[in-house]
Parts: sequence; C-alpha cells; structure tokens
Amino acid sequence: IDPGHGAQDAGAIGNGLLEKNINLEVALKLQSRLHQAGALTVMSRTSDTFDSLQTRVSKGAQASADIFISIHANANDNSGANGTETYYDTTYAAAHSVKLAQQVQPRMVSALGTKDRGVKTAGFYVIKYSRMPSILLETGFVTNPIDASILKSTAAKDRLASGIATGVSNYFDVK
Ligand SMILES: [Zn+2]
Repeated sequence: IDPGHGAQDAGAIGNGLLEKNINLEVALKLQSRLHQAGALTVMSRTSDTFDSLQTRVSKGAQASADIFISIHANANDNSGANGTETYYDTTYAAAHSVKLAQQVQPRMVSALGTKDRGVKTAGFYVIKYSRMPSILLETGFVTNPIDASILKSTAAKDRLASGIATGVSNYFDVK
C-alpha cells in the first residue's frame, strides 16, 4: 500500500485539504481492513515522510508484494471537476492489473457516492515500474467542494477503505 506524496510533497491542495494526509489516512484504514481479512500488508510509509517514486517501487519489489496499490486524490484548475477513478499501466501484469482495477473502482464509487470516472490507463511511475499487478486510485478531487467534503468525512474514508478491501478480496477470489 503506497500512500502518495508526504512530508515536503503535499500533493494536491484544495478546500483546506492536503492530499498527502488524505492518502495516508485512507491507506492506514485500508491496511487495517486487509489485515482483518487475512492479508499481509506492507506500507511504503506510515507517517508524514517522503519517499521517491523509485523507492516506493523498490519497497513493493523487496516485499515480493502480490499487488501494489497507490492511493491518491485528484486536483484540477476547474473546481467543477469531480469524481473517482482508477488507473493501471500496461507495461507489466496488465491483464491482472485491469482486473484488480475493475474490482476496486465500482466499490470506491459506491462507498463515496462520487461520480464514476471509470478505469483508465496512464504511465504513472509507480504503476508503470511495479512488476506485480498494480493500480493507482484517485479517490476524489480536493479542488471540488463536494468531493472535498466527502474526503473530510471519517465515515466516508472508513467506507472507502472497506470498499477497496472488498475489491481486493474479490480480485483474489476470481483472478
Ligand atoms: Zn497524488
């Protein structure tokens, strides 16, 4: 589990939110849910620290992780942009990465009640260079007032973590 950004790298900023903090909160909740479900979890960070993208990928590889999940929140110059999306990259393990993405994306949308922006491909570093099935989650837009209010809610983040964990479990059931 890779909570995006950290320390001097706040990530996206909007509506009083720092992306790095949301990412970490969701990641810690996800770690708890996955642990409860019997998974062995490894976090790229567990507090407000910064790792390079290369280090994040290396940590996943060194752990021999079965999957890699990077957690982010989105931003746009247009405050009207909103919703939730999941990215995968086709360089390694594409078939399994898209299956994992397709399990997780609808459960994030259900958990948050956000707009479904779908499953997309993009060569973001951590999912491009991770050799195991890997996805990057954009949970919502900190720059959109409604998404931001959702991301501020502890209950919503709890539901989100549970939804992601259910998607992960289903991925391992059906893959
Ligand atoms: Zn980010």
